[in-house]
Amino acid sequence: MSLRDAFGPDLHDDPAELGELGRTTYAHVARVLGRLVVRDVAGVQRAVRAAAIAGVALAPVSRGKNWGWGTCAPHADGAVVLDLSEMRAILDYSDELGYVTVQPGVSVADVVALLDERHATRMLPMGGTTAAASLVGHLCERGVSVGTLYHDRASHACGLEAVLADGRIVHTGMRRFGRGAVAATHRFGPGPGLESLLTQSGLAIVTEATIWLPRRPVDPFLALAVGDDLAGLVDALRDLMGMGVRVAPQIYNRAKVERLFLARARLPGGLTLPPGAWVAMIPAYPASSQHAAADRAALEAALPRVPGVRAAILPLDPAMGPFAGRPYPDDDVLSGMLYRFGEERRGPGVDPQRDGCGIVWGCYATTMAGADVARACAVIERRLAAAGLEVFQAVHAISERAALAFPQLSFPAARAAEATAALCALTLDMHAAGFPSYRVPAGAGGVPRSLAATDEVVGAIHRLLDPAGALARGKYAPG
Ligand SMILES: Cc1cc2nc3c(=O)[nH]c(=O)nc-3n(C[C@H](O)[C@H](O)[C@H](O)COP(=O)(O)OP(=O)(O)OC[C@H]3O[C@@H](n4cnc5c(N)ncnc54)[C@H](O)[C@@H]3O)c2cc1C
Repeated sequence: MSLRDAFGPDLHDDPAELGELGRTTYAHVARVLGRLVVRDVAGVQRAVRAAAIAGVALAPVSRGKNWGWGTCAPHADGAVVLDLSEMRAILDYSDELGYVTVQPGVSVADVVALLDERHATRMLPMGGTTAAASLVGHLCERGVSVGTLYHDRASHACGLEAVLADGRIVHTGMRRFGRGAVAATHRFGPGPGLESLLTQSGLAIVTEATIWLPRRPVDPFLALAVGDDLAGLVDALRDLMGMGVRVAPQIYNRAKVERLFLARARLPGGLTLPPGAWVAMIPAYPASSQHAAADRAALEAALPRVPGVRAAILPLDPAMGPFAGRPYPDDDVLSGMLYRFGEERRGPGVDPQRDGCGIVWGCYATTMAGADVARACAVIERRLAAAGLEVFQAVHAISERAALAFPQLSFPAARAAEATAALCALTLDMHAAGFPSYRVPAGAGGVPRSLAATDEVVGAIHRLLDPAGALARGKYAPG
């Protein structure tokens, strides 16, 4: 049976388009057999049944903006990309309780438009990427938001609906009892939870999720702290977070700020960067004007205690995009981060995949102890410098105890193989140093084997739920 017979007229099989879908912004390439557009949950169920009959795997993509992590390319050859971008319903929204329930095709821009229209008291946490990205895709990858109090998407979402490889539907938490309010407010229901089995897994196709929205802050501001003492900065920020100061710090090496963020944009208020190797951007989201005064006083007391640090407090300008709970108002920051080697725009807006920009990310778990962060960043620096790549570092504080180190590898397309090899080597270095991957790009990086029976149990669940391998997986499989 041909693929078109199995999947019907919504299967797209133009070879040029499929070639593009199998490409990434780094060296990984996978052979894609088709792109199937589905419009509703029943369409997803039909698709998995057809995939089982045709004996091919499906690789779900919500809006396909996973730039630097694989874009739309599956991990392995021979899959049909399941395009969910036309499932665009916003199913529920509560300003009172702070949540929005969406289908996979709903974008950041769609939800920001809804919040604006409703004069919401809530803001949407979002990544520092295009506003065309999907909230469900971001959740499925366990993506992080830039700034904001709900930094780690997967910890601030619930009520997933997903289609299994045999077409059955499962729900997480209270959503299994229907779409009532508790389905949108509780991550867990009675008994075992399925939630983390549905993200970074390839076990099911997520067709609905509830995303939590924090309150809009009152008098938000941005503290900028620059100095050489990375460990001291991290320790000071951890203490502030532990005290309950509502900050969402990120620390960058100077090269990242100067050569990427400020390549085409400016700091608010025409500020120039004080000297120092590390730049902490510390957006603060106070709950009231009294909190704003107290938060500011706490930051002004804590930051100067870090040796050699210079700090300034700035308004949280909407031009700072996601830090201010808005998409970037123009393409300056994204263009500066991506179009670095003379690449030309071949269409509207920023699109590193279309325009051949070289980018791949690493993402590694570290703690919020200054010594750990400094050690993780030193491993990154050593490996990337040895590979002759520019070193662009970011550390996101996820909580008072957890942080993520995010190197960005930026290179001309001709150096894609070299950069991808350097990332794979870095991932091994980081695992060996006690900083495992938190998220991995398709076809690069990989996950080492677990010490006890964890991999075996996860493998058994895969075999039980998807014996024919109808859903593309592998990205997070150990090996
Ligand atoms: C300059 C720049 C800045 C960036 N900043 C950030 C950032 O701050 N934070 C961040 O997290 N990322 C960031 N990214 C990476 C990326 O752009 C975002 O993560 C983006 O949200 C992913 O695209 P998407 O939401 O359209 O997801 P998609 O591309 O639709 O999905 C991503 C992956 O998730 C899985 N998936 C998607 N939908 C489903 C589903 N319905 N069911 C099961 N599995 C599914 C698939 O494996 C898919 O490949 C950045 C990229 C660039 C280039």
